[in-house]
Amino acid sequence: MNIRIDDLPVRDELRGKSPYGAPQLDVPVRLNTNENPYPLPEPLVERIAERVREAARHLNRYPDRDAVELRTRLAEYLTRTGGHRVGLANVWAANGSNEVIQQLLQTFGGPGRTAIGFEPSYSMHALIARGTGTGWISGPRNDDFTIDLAAAEKAIAENQPDVVFITTPNNPTGTAVPPETVVALYDAAQAAKPSVVIADEAYIEFSHGHSLLPLLEGRPHLVISRTMSKAFGAAGLRLGYLAAHPAVVDAVQLVRLPYHLSAITQATALAALEHTDTLLGYVEQLKTERDRLVTELRALGYEVTPSDANFVQFGRFDDAHEAWQKILDRGVLVRDNGVPGRLRVTAGTPEENDAFLDAVRELKKEQP
Ligand code: PMP
Repeated sequence: MNIRIDDLPVRDELRGKSPYGAPQLDVPVRLNTNENPYPLPEPLVERIAERVREAARHLNRYPDRDAVELRTRLAEYLTRTGGHRVGLANVWAANGSNEVIQQLLQTFGGPGRTAIGFEPSYSMHALIARGTGTGWISGPRNDDFTIDLAAAEKAIAENQPDVVFITTPNNPTGTAVPPETVVALYDAAQAAKPSVVIADEAYIEFSHGHSLLPLLEGRPHLVISRTMSKAFGAAGLRLGYLAAHPAVVDAVQLVRLPYHLSAITQATALAALEHTDTLLGYVEQLKTERDRLVTELRALGYEVTPSDANFVQFGRFDDAHEAWQKILDRGVLVRDNGVPGRLRVTAGTPEENDAFLDAVRELKKEQP
């Protein structure tokens, strides 16, 4: 029997929709999913093996449901690098920041409630909203991809969302949101109705600026979402976390699955945190490479959006998808996020970035 999705009694809001998915193509240079190009250093790989071996001895038992040691170490990392003191009670962790966001929407969104994001932005915010039955509102941005504060405040006042997403640095544009703008949006959101503001800082370690962590002071409805997928070079680990008022951490306990974070995940993340300084050293190299991509793309005559992340948005192309294909034909996979006339390239190793720059140099000759 040939049964397709639409023949099943799936929820109405899922009918005809596509799952999230960047192409995972087998090409020499993959610069399409904002991964860190550097494999974990060998001493860390050894340490992970050691920690996992120890954890394996106890796999007959459920893991620490509250991930106390891991959250304590994450809180120390945030306090050391974020300019604001947080402790165990302020931090929560899950399987990637996608799961953090899902738990937040299960807690503060849901049927009859809405969330707003300023688009183009990270498309999973809208998809997780849909999956949790939360209505989605697409807020505006300026032509240069910064947030149009007046328009954003108006959208919040009119729609009275329950959850506000601020992605900084923003994906796919690389745009950082100034702290004053975040404060203004937080105030606008609270004036409309008590709502939760999620600052998605997945790429903050690559920023020229600083984390919004100090803004947590006196703002109990602000949540900062983070990940080990990018700066820690551990996308395969699936470890995201949040920092917020302890009441927010208590609230997400209502929806988290028991033992959601496996003992293997906790052990691996703890090993990675022991090597924070080495991993942040790679971040510095990637920031230099990111800035080089911006400079060289501009020198080639491309329009480049200023970037605070580990990727760069560039264009303009009459047909971005055709340009994407031509770059792919030269062995380099970048991302077409559907932003008209624009593509996004992740900063890779110097050699990968050279290959990418050669590809776009040739493209420029073809399409001056
Ligand atoms: N937020 C943003 C802005 C992202 O770009 C991504 C990953 N592409 C995530 C969150 C999710 O990352 P992860 O689930 O790997 O932590």
